[in-house]
Amino acid sequence: MPTVGARKQKHVPQRTCIVCGKKAAKGEFMRVVATTGNAVQIDETGKLPGRGAYVCKDVHEAPGQIKKSRIEYALRTKMEDDDWARLVTVMR
Ligand SMILES: [Zn+2]
Repeated sequence: MPTVGARKQKHVPQRTCIVCGKKAAKGEFMRVVATTGNAVQIDETGKLPGRGAYVCKDVHEAPGQIKKSRIEYALRTKMEDDDWARLVTVMR
């Protein structure tokens, strides 16, 4: 009887999308970061300091899934409506 699950797999750290909950490798996501001063921005380089969260690079089928409160919660910050509008545009 063949052994199931004995295949060797390289361990890839998983990230979770804060919008839809999808789990995948880091490369599948863009990082959203709350920098000091509470500006929330997309972290293109993955190196910005601050509290980060991950969102799918893929367009979400239902942009309505993207909730400001959820992202604020994940980043432990409050966002100005302007910041939010800008972020949503990028995430859609
Ligand atoms: Zn997602």
